[in-house]
Amino acid sequence: MKCAFKTVRRVTMKCCHFRTRRNPGALVLLLTGVCLAGGQSAGPIATTMANPSPTPVNPPGMVTSPHPVIRARTPVGIPDIPGFVTLKCDFHMHTVFSDGLVWPSVRAEEAWREGLDAIAITDHLEYQPHKEDVSTNHNRAYEIARGTGDALDLLVIRGSEITRQMPPGHLNAIFLTNSASLAVTNWRDAITVAHQQDAFIFWNHPGWDAQTTNGLVLWYPEHTELLNAGILHGIEVVNGRDYYPEAHAWAIEKNLAMLSNSDIHDPLNLDYQVHQGDHRPLTLVFAKERTLESLKQALFARRTAVYSGNWLIGSEQFLRPIFTRSVAVKNPSFSLKAKQRALVQIHNHSEVDYLLKAAGTLPEVSFAQDVRLPAGKTVLLPVTGKTTTEKGKKKISLPYTVANLLVRPNEPLPVTLDLDIALIP
Ligand SMILES: [Zn+2]
Ligand SMILES: [Zn+2]
Repeated sequence: MKCAFKTVRRVTMKCCHFRTRRNPGALVLLLTGVCLAGGQSAGPIATTMANPSPTPVNPPGMVTSPHPVIRARTPVGIPDIPGFVTLKCDFHMHTVFSDGLVWPSVRAEEAWREGLDAIAITDHLEYQPHKEDVSTNHNRAYEIARGTGDALDLLVIRGSEITRQMPPGHLNAIFLTNSASLAVTNWRDAITVAHQQDAFIFWNHPGWDAQTTNGLVLWYPEHTELLNAGILHGIEVVNGRDYYPEAHAWAIEKNLAMLSNSDIHDPLNLDYQVHQGDHRPLTLVFAKERTLESLKQALFARRTAVYSGNWLIGSEQFLRPIFTRSVAVKNPSFSLKAKQRALVQIHNHSEVDYLLKAAGTLPEVSFAQDVRLPAGKTVLLPVTGKTTTEKGKKKISLPYTVANLLVRPNEPLPVTLDLDIALIP
């Protein structure tokens, strides 16, 4: 209901049909998640789609194609942090069972392919524009997606979107035991039922244009009522491509879990160019283990962060270890003679490009002011001596902030790159 209705574009998986017809073994491989990327096979080069061979040219069971194999999972390159696994999650999405344009099992496979650990299916309770064509059973979308999730080892959570005017606006309840019992007239009754089911409840897209007042994103007395009653647990700081600084500040001030969800209605690839490095917004959840119980516990404990575009947003306790585990100085110890220059190699293991900006100067060395650490690459950082009198080994920390890691609205994470330099006059 947030997104305007869009024309359906028919997308068929001709490529997979083709492989399956030519090579019956391929389907088993695909269903068990053992996919081989195009060109990685040791077998002969496969024929193109335009010129199919009537007989298999590959060893039995092998899948090769000059086309990208899209029915494959790509992990999200964000590290775990000490004591916790970093689960990549999307807790807000729609299917044909409300105003979405895809079948629930497709939602599960899209998420599995994109490297997610968990999704919640959250169709609108009050808005079912396809009800002439599909069931109005509010639990059905979850049940279908859950079947696919179980087969693929993707965690699928039962949820619903309580879809009301502002205030209170739209609220998602996840970890429900029965969505159907939330379909009641009064929104307070719906939330009470969700709370009785021990659901995790959060405020969706607080800055959605259609629900702002004269362009202002407002916190209403109804939200205070829910917060004080212990019924509001989280807030979307990011919904789709939108970031709401107001929601970011409220999450910190009111101790709400920060969430970043797609609210996707279309097939994923209509909205996100996944094959070109784009990704849907993700909520990072720092859980003790990769289970539904652990995930739920982590959400209630507010152990979350936002991963949207090339931004990470969250408290320092989560962003700092992500940065520290992503970035390694490969040659931290070296000697520097007088005003000579040395090159420090810095490797970024993650899929986030870190954008460093110098935060101050040092008496012993000068160093690059702006440094981009691209995902998966090693960068040379020049460090130049400033003194001809200092002598001996020194621990020198280059001070930076990471412009795309926000600990508060407009407040980047401070970091240091730590070096052991032997100064030679
Ligand atoms: Zn909504
Ligand atoms: Zn929605």
